Amino acid sequence: MSAWMDNDLKEYRRRGWYRVRRRLQSGQGARVRLGGRELINFSSNDYLALAGDARLARAAAAAARRYGCGAAASPLVSGYSPPLRSLERALADWEGTEAALVFSSGYTANLALVSSLAGPEDAVFSDALNHASLIDGCRLARAAVHVYRHKDVDHLADLLRKEGHGARRRLIVSDTVFSMDGDVAPLAELVELAERFDCFLLIDEAHATGVLGEQGRGVTELLASGAWPSERVVKVGTLSKALGAQGGFVCGSRRLLAWLVNRARPYIFSTALAPPIAAAAWRGVAVVRQEPERRRRVLALAERLRRQLRELGGNVGDSCCQIVPLIVGEARQAVMLSRRLQEHGLLIPAIRPPSVPDGSTRLRLSVTAAHTEAAVLQVGEVLRSVVKDSPRNMFPI
Ligand code: PMP
Repeated sequence: MSAWMDNDLKEYRRRGWYRVRRRLQSGQGARVRLGGRELINFSSNDYLALAGDARLARAAAAAARRYGCGAAASPLVSGYSPPLRSLERALADWEGTEAALVFSSGYTANLALVSSLAGPEDAVFSDALNHASLIDGCRLARAAVHVYRHKDVDHLADLLRKEGHGARRRLIVSDTVFSMDGDVAPLAELVELAERFDCFLLIDEAHATGVLGEQGRGVTELLASGAWPSERVVKVGTLSKALGAQGGFVCGSRRLLAWLVNRARPYIFSTALAPPIAAAAWRGVAVVRQEPERRRRVLALAERLRRQLRELGGNVGDSCCQIVPLIVGEARQAVMLSRRLQEHGLLIPAIRPPSVPDGSTRLRLSVTAAHTEAAVLQVGEVLRSVVKDSPRNMFPI
């Protein structure tokens, strides 16, 4: 009866797309245990090395003792706990907005935002490389979706001129740092287009939160003063990556957040973020604000890594932050290369379709503040020897 599942799985194997979960035998960190071995870990989004930080763990433990482990209800019923309230206040204070609203994941935040800001009578203009959660938000919205070429503001302007004039609302949607490429959206131009064409702009700062900007607030910090906060620009961040905890958040005006609380189904119908996680994230916000050296370090290490990969002839695309792709192309080759690197003590995942477009499979290296310079140099050395020892053109980097 379910033979179609076997057929699908066989096809995934044939294409090199078959996925399994990696079972770690340790907590997160720059070094992890996997398959009984210690590996240098370039596979996490723990950019500021806070996921295993004792201060966050203590905050979570104290909240668990006082408030319990589960939120037990949606925020509109009785799940809105004191740690969650404190977290939202800390986020709003950091971002300089009137308020913040926390979701139990960044994925849910994006689903909620897109599907409540847009509906079947609206039009969404979406970057071709946006994260799956934004794409799924468009699907849930049942809006007309117009995809513009990656970071191509001329193409976007053209679509805005031609499409969606009968729509009730028009919404531009973009990641700020793209998760599989580590490149940055032309945010100032997107804001300008949103103003010129009278659209909302929804930006997802998931990979920029904590890492980019002097204060770690993300790419909005790099805008000219006055461009953000703005009612036209709706900003999402995540607690699951640099902040070392879990969850997503939206920051903005009290009006926007009140409206979301009344409209956003993925918020209304889902249990609130658990108190220990809210407390850990609250502590994470404080550390991110107090220790800017973490983001400086991670960005400097990533630059070092890019230089090395380029010296080897590797294609790192337009990466300019802590996410560094090494674009290989064909899925099977990338998977094999990832395995070889693992044999040499490096955990560097191959990212395949549907996470990236077909033919652009890559190794995705993410650098964290806990990596050493020696670990970054090791990547270059190991890659050089693996490529040299392989049959010709096996790893076209
Ligand atoms: N946005 C982007 C750009 C992401 O890369 C991710 C997760 N990889 C998310 C949102 C979802 O965030 P979360 O993991 O907190 O659900």
